Amino acid sequence: MAVYNTPSDSANTAVRAFLTKVGEFYLGHSFNTGNGKGKEIWLRIKNEVFNSSCAYCGQTKEKLQIEHLYMFNRSEYGLHHPGNTVPCCTECNTRAKKEDKTYTDWLEHLKIVCQKRGDESVFETRKQKILKHIESFNYPKLNDSEKQAIKVIANSLYDNIKAESDKSLSLYKELDKAFVKATNYCQ
Ligand SMILES: [Zn+2]
Repeated sequence: MAVYNTPSDSANTAVRAFLTKVGEFYLGHSFNTGNGKGKEIWLRIKNEVFNSSCAYCGQTKEKLQIEHLYMFNRSEYGLHHPGNTVPCCTECNTRAKKEDKTYTDWLEHLKIVCQKRGDESVFETRKQKILKHIESFNYPKLNDSEKQAIKVIANSLYDNIKAESDKSLSLYKELDKAFVKATNYCQ
């Protein structure tokens, strides 16, 4: 866990909490991968659907993390939903940035990983496996208006939380000034 927390960190956390709630709204129940039903679903995806291997490179050696295919942030607005989660190794968990500074989407990422490892022949198989996974867990097919609505709300949430964090510091400065004045007056 990060020990240095910025207003952007809290704003990003709020966006992820929102994307989690939207995912659960479509799913009809909670998806906490840490325990209960959510954990059961996640373990099935990791161990059975993907045979305990990284969805991108196929390796089974290291501990696999949860990866959101459609990124779980303000750039791709991926939802926290079983159909959007796949197991992933540490190396594949970092995506390349494109020239316009945005991240590559999961399909481009898969292509890059396969090319880098000389596994181009398995690209199509892995791509089909991931597409089937998205489909079989009924990841919601959002239309453009729904996507736009999620984007607008997430951005507004991000700006509000960030502004509130900044406002808190100004407020503290004001109170501290008043407090120092009051102390001086009493002396
Ligand atoms: Zn990998």
